[in-house]
Amino acid sequence: MKLVVMKFGGTSVGSIDKINNVANIVEKELNDKKLIVVLSAMSGVTNKMQEYIDEIESNEIIENDLILTSGEAVSVGLLSAILKKRNIKSIPLLGWQIPIITDSNYQKAKILNIDKNRIDQFLKNYDVIVVAGFQGVNIDGNITSLGRGGSDTTAVAVAAAVDADRCDIYTDVDGVYTTDPNLEPKAKKINKLAFEEMLEMSSTGAKVLHTRSVELAMKNNLTLQVLSSITKQSGTFVVDENKLIEKEIVSGVSYSNNESKLTLSGIADKPGISATIFGLLANNNINVDMIVQNTSQDGITANITFTVPNSEIHNAKKLIEENKKLIDFKSIETDTNISKISVIGMGMMSQSGVAKKMFTTLADNSINILAISTSEIKISVLIDKKFTKIAVKSLHDAYNLGSK
Ligand code: ADP
Ligand code: ASP
Ligand code: MG
Repeated sequence: MKLVVMKFGGTSVGSIDKINNVANIVEKELNDKKLIVVLSAMSGVTNKMQEYIDEIESNEIIENDLILTSGEAVSVGLLSAILKKRNIKSIPLLGWQIPIITDSNYQKAKILNIDKNRIDQFLKNYDVIVVAGFQGVNIDGNITSLGRGGSDTTAVAVAAAVDADRCDIYTDVDGVYTTDPNLEPKAKKINKLAFEEMLEMSSTGAKVLHTRSVELAMKNNLTLQVLSSITKQSGTFVVDENKLIEKEIVSGVSYSNNESKLTLSGIADKPGISATIFGLLANNNINVDMIVQNTSQDGITANITFTVPNSEIHNAKKLIEENKKLIDFKSIETDTNISKISVIGMGMMSQSGVAKKMFTTLADNSINILAISTSEIKISVLIDKKFTKIAVKSLHDAYNLGSK
C-alpha cells in the first residue's frame, strides 16, 4: 500500500476552519493509501510561546524547548479528533512517542534516529498518523526543538525513515517563487528546481522550506513538492539536478535579516588567528556565515568581519571579549542593521557575468556592498538593512525573473 507524508504549516492549521480544510485534503488523499500527517503549531502560537520565554527572561534550555514545542500538541490533537469524527482511524503522536531521537542542542536539535518499526506498528493499526512537527526527544528524555520552521524537517526525516512514496509540504503559498512573493508581487512560481538551488535559497533566507529539510531530502534523494493547502494547483517540485531539463542561470533571489555582523580590528596578521577565533565560535556551537578578512595598511595587523545569526551575536561578542588575551585584537564592533541578499542558480556554474550584473544593479541603486561571499551556484552580498526591498526588487528585475 502507498505511503504518503503530508506536512501542513502554521497558517494551514491556523483556525478550526483551516484544520477542517486540512481534514478534507487528508480524507481525499487517503483513498487507497496510508498517511503520515506532520503539523506545525497554529500560526502565531510558537511566537507567543517565545514571548512568554522572553518575558520571564528564561535561560532554562530544557524548559524553553518544552514551552516552545507545546503548540504542536494542540494542532495534532485537534486534527486527529476531527478525523476520528469522520470515522477515519487516526492517532496523534508527539515526538517522544515515536520516538524521534535528537541530539541535545536545544533550540536547534538535529534528528539522529526515527524508529521505523514503531511507525510501521502504528500504520498497522491506523490509517492516518498525525505527528507533531518541530520536536524530538534527547537521550535524557527531554523534549528538544529543531529550530524555527523545523516541522518541514520532521516531515522529510519521517518520509526518509519510512521510505515514503511522496512528501508534500503544504503551506500558505502555492510553491517556491523566484523570490518571496510577499515582498515582490511580480515573483513567479518555479515549477521544478534542484535540491542544491533550494538548499541555497533556504539557507540564504527563503523560509518556505527549513534548510535542514532540504539537506535531508537531497541526501535521501526524496522529491519534495511544495504546494498550497488552499488552491488545488500543483506546486513546485524540488528534485535531483539530473531531472532538470533546463538549468536557469539565475533562478531566484533571496534575502535574510537574520544575521548580524561582527568586526574585529587590529588583530595580528599571522597564522593561526582565524583558527583561534572560529575554533572558539565552533566549540560554542555558534554558526558563522560570511567571513571577510583584510590586511591593514601597516601590513602587521588585520581586520576580520564575519556574520552570525542575530540570536547569537551577544554570545559571540561576549565569547570573543572573554578571550581577548588569546585573540589579541584592538576593538570589536557589532552591527545588527544588515541584510544579506543572494542570487542563486544552477546555470551560474557555466556562465560568466552574473556577479557583474549583481554589483552593477546594486551600484545603480546607490547600495553599498559590505561583504561578498560566493559558492558555485550563489552570490551573496551584505548590505544596509534599509535597502533590502529595493535590492531584491531591482535584482529580480535585472535577471528578468518576473517575466519567466
Ligand atoms: P509554513 O507556516 O507553512 O511553514 P512559512 O511561513 O514557514 O510557512 O513559509 C512560507 C512563506 O515563505 C511564504 O509565506 C513566503 O512569504 C516565504 N517565502 C520566502 N521566500 C520564498 C520563496 N522564494 N518562495 C515562496 N515563499 C517564500
Ligand atoms: N511551529 C514552529 C515554528 O513556528 C515550527 C514550524 O512552524 O515549522 O517555528
Ligand atoms: Mg515553515
